[in-house]
Amino acid sequence: MRYCRRCLYPDNHPFGIGFDAQGICTGCRVHEEKDSLDWLEREKKLAALLAGYRGRNRARHDCVVPISGARDSFFIVHLLRKVYGLNPLLVTYNRHYNSRAGIFNVAHLRTVLGCDIHTLTLDPRQVKRVMRTTLDRLGSFHWHALAGQSVFPVQTAVRAGIPLVIWGAHQALDQVGMFSHLDEVEMSRRYRREHDLMGLEAEDLVDEGELSAVDLEPFFYPQDADIRRVGVRGIYLGNFIRWDTKAQHEKMLPLYDYYVGPLARTFDSYNDVDDLHYAGAHDLIKTAKLGYGKATDHASREIRFGRLTRDEGARLAARYEDAPAPDLSRLAAFMEMGEGDILAALDRLRDPRIWEKAGGAWKRKDRAADHPGGADLPKTGGCDFRNNVPADLDGDPQARQLLSKGYMRESV
Ligand SMILES: [Zn+2]
Repeated sequence: MRYCRRCLYPDNHPFGIGFDAQGICTGCRVHEEKDSLDWLEREKKLAALLAGYRGRNRARHDCVVPISGARDSFFIVHLLRKVYGLNPLLVTYNRHYNSRAGIFNVAHLRTVLGCDIHTLTLDPRQVKRVMRTTLDRLGSFHWHALAGQSVFPVQTAVRAGIPLVIWGAHQALDQVGMFSHLDEVEMSRRYRREHDLMGLEAEDLVDEGELSAVDLEPFFYPQDADIRRVGVRGIYLGNFIRWDTKAQHEKMLPLYDYYVGPLARTFDSYNDVDDLHYAGAHDLIKTAKLGYGKATDHASREIRFGRLTRDEGARLAARYEDAPAPDLSRLAAFMEMGEGDILAALDRLRDPRIWEKAGGAWKRKDRAADHPGGADLPKTGGCDFRNNVPADLDGDPQARQLLSKGYMRESV
């Protein structure tokens, strides 16, 4: 396997990645734009764009903003509300496997920033059927969450007649440099299908496994004619703002005091604290498929910002990617499957360039640390992540004020 000499990405990155004559990947090259573009100019461009949507037709909401109980939700809503004076309609897709910290964060966000919210919560039995089928077909139980969170904002925009959807960073631009920031790429159905959804839209899954069109209808993308009628477009803030998720969290945490905390399989405690399985069993499956997991995504990002050397990043990634997923039995119980069935699905997906079976156990043959680096950027700072989730979250007086109906019994 070929690896970037600056970051840790291999050439089997699912978004597609290229390498130049120096052995540096396309993601690292596009990241260099963060230090070469005139970001003040770009922010002015954003301000002008948003001004065109503020207070339009005396509508209650100026834009639709997808949020979760983690990622960059606080930064995005703070920016739009406090800096640009917009009234966003927040939307969130309920994955069903939310952490308590994540449920708190969503309730806290909409309360402190004073926003309306629309939540899509599907029948849990239906969600489980989709999870079982996509685990089998795609090796991903999390497909429903990717599909739901990428389509519910667009459906809401069409239904409520709000023509602007605002996203944070564009993942494929950030990770593999699929576009330049100057392309100002906007959301599209095609990108969603090919990259967010691993090539399979909900329509392609009808009559697969246990699924009917009725099960999948909540994940269907709106008709082109309806999108055109409302004039819905979706922009990415990362094309206009020098996106640095760690720095953004560290600006927002003192202002809003939301929860961030440690995860089983990555050192970045800011981005996935809301999800019980994303940085656990989901990442175990990703690592089986590709040879790398979230810790490589996060370390590659920090290497590009000069906060980790390649060697430091490779060591961190190896430590987390060899860690167990303690949530696996809980996931199996939720999916009404055996742990062994999930592990068997995972074994079918292993990339033979990375894994070999020796003495009945899977052994890794290749990883970024085995390949030469030597293209590090100058160090700009350290890479510490904070943790403020109390060990007994229910004992935290703030957590008792949850304005949410998010809890359910384990057995449901
Ligand atoms: Zn790279």
